[in-house]
Amino acid sequence: MLTLTRIFKMRIKRRSKKKYNADYRGIPTEVCPCGSQLWNLKVMFQEKTISMYFLDMECALCGSLATAPTEIDGCD
Ligand SMILES: [Zn+2]
Repeated sequence: MLTLTRIFKMRIKRRSKKKYNADYRGIPTEVCPCGSQLWNLKVMFQEKTISMYFLDMECALCGSLATAPTEIDGCD
């Protein structure tokens, strides 16, 4: 039987197994060193637009970690 405790343990186990290629966090960027401009990151929507996003993001192609740019960073 799948209980809530078991699901929680499975999620923790899955998270600990995840490996990232490289860690480029610290300098905001739009392009991964592998050339990809597609990222996986956590966002929040309000009124059908992105109202907030986490700065930690993962490259959709190679899985490297990077820092998402913000308006202050001047990445137009
Ligand atoms: Zn990449």
